Amino acid sequence: MSVMTGVNWLNALDMRTIILVALMVTYISTYIMAVTWVRIQGKFQGIGGFTGYFGLTALGLSLVLFKGQISDLITIVGVNALMFAGMVMLAGGMARFLNVFMNRSYYFLLFMVFILLYVWFAMVNPDVRIRIMIFSGSVIPIQVHLLWMIFFKAAPDQRRHAFNTGITILLFFIIFLIRLLIAFFFPEPENYLYDRMPDHLFQSLLIALIVLLSHSLQLMINSRLLNLTQCHARVQERLACQDELTTLYNRRKLNELVENEFSRFRRHGRAFSLILGDIDLFKQINDRCGHTKGDQALIRVAEILRENIRAEDTAGRWGGEEFLILLPETGLDDAVKVARKLRNIFTCQGAETRALFGQSLSLSFGVAQVEDQTDMEKVLRQADMAMYQAKEEGRNRMVAYSL
Ligand code: GH3
Ligand code: MG
Ligand code: MG
Repeated sequence: MSVMTGVNWLNALDMRTIILVALMVTYISTYIMAVTWVRIQGKFQGIGGFTGYFGLTALGLSLVLFKGQISDLITIVGVNALMFAGMVMLAGGMARFLNVFMNRSYYFLLFMVFILLYVWFAMVNPDVRIRIMIFSGSVIPIQVHLLWMIFFKAAPDQRRHAFNTGITILLFFIIFLIRLLIAFFFPEPENYLYDRMPDHLFQSLLIALIVLLSHSLQLMINSRLLNLTQCHARVQERLACQDELTTLYNRRKLNELVENEFSRFRRHGRAFSLILGDIDLFKQINDRCGHTKGDQALIRVAEILRENIRAEDTAGRWGGEEFLILLPETGLDDAVKVARKLRNIFTCQGAETRALFGQSLSLSFGVAQVEDQTDMEKVLRQADMAMYQAKEEGRNRMVAYSL
């Protein structure tokens, strides 16, 4: 006859097994974090602190293996001091990772008090229950500080990266608080490694939390790396199509936009026009006032063009002192009006630009409308020819290409 009995899970837990499993988990976590630390290669700070946390915890647990063979000062005080120092490294690492200021002197003070109390209750007046309370009571302020850094001090984007870690630390905090309360009310066990007590359950939960912490720290690092990569990609993308000096589109991007317009023209017959503007006698500015002034003049021309074209039109730097304006859905007549308007604006700004650059800035404009569906370059050549004609006719004028 079989008797149905429930499993006593608390009895099933054995502190020696728990410590061995914890040992493996912390060594693996140390290894993984150390590899991450090396791979990050200083892209951001704090990973060393995280590695230190797992490493010191693993080292502390390793010393427990020698209990009974070496002094209690090492297996009790040394072990817990290492674990405590590990928590401090975690906090230091987090402060560096999140770029938050951390006052080390409080930690130093806490560490000294911790050591003194531990030595007292391990060597002079041994009491495992009080030691559990001291340990929990000492790491709880560190956890509160970690939570404060993550949820209140960190910049919003950093907080977003560290959210999972924050939740894990919150669980650590809850578990340590419960442990503190249980130790307070629970009778003192004879021998920590062999007696049954709620601390078994606590230590098992701690293993799970160490695994969770290891993963959430990795998630936090990954999230920040991903963000960094996306930022780099955006910068690269912008640089690839932007002229560095004027911040207008560069020739590469202009070519792409003209190609797009050209294929719309071929498919849907939507005409577009181009205005090519070349600064008049620009070389003189360089020669008289220097290259820097010349650069400033290019920037000023770019500003004037950008501010005075329609939102749907695009201005870009075509070459040295040449600018191209793409006018989608625009016929020659309207493009001519735009070029005339721009020329007048430069004329109006003449006094100002003369004061700045020793000569008033003016441009010669060539205007052309797309007409040949087989040759994209043709409209560009026509705008160029019209612009050269404007130069020949005396500069500071607009010429529309006509057949
Ligand atoms: P034109 O009216 O016939 O166009 O005369 P120009 O002096 O404007 O033309 P030219 O082709 O003789 O000279 C263009 C000058 O533009 C020569 C070149 O050194 C200068 N230039 C080209 N790119 C830059 C730049 O990025 N910065 C500066 N400061 N100068 C540039
Ligand atoms: Mg020129
Ligand atoms: Mg030129």
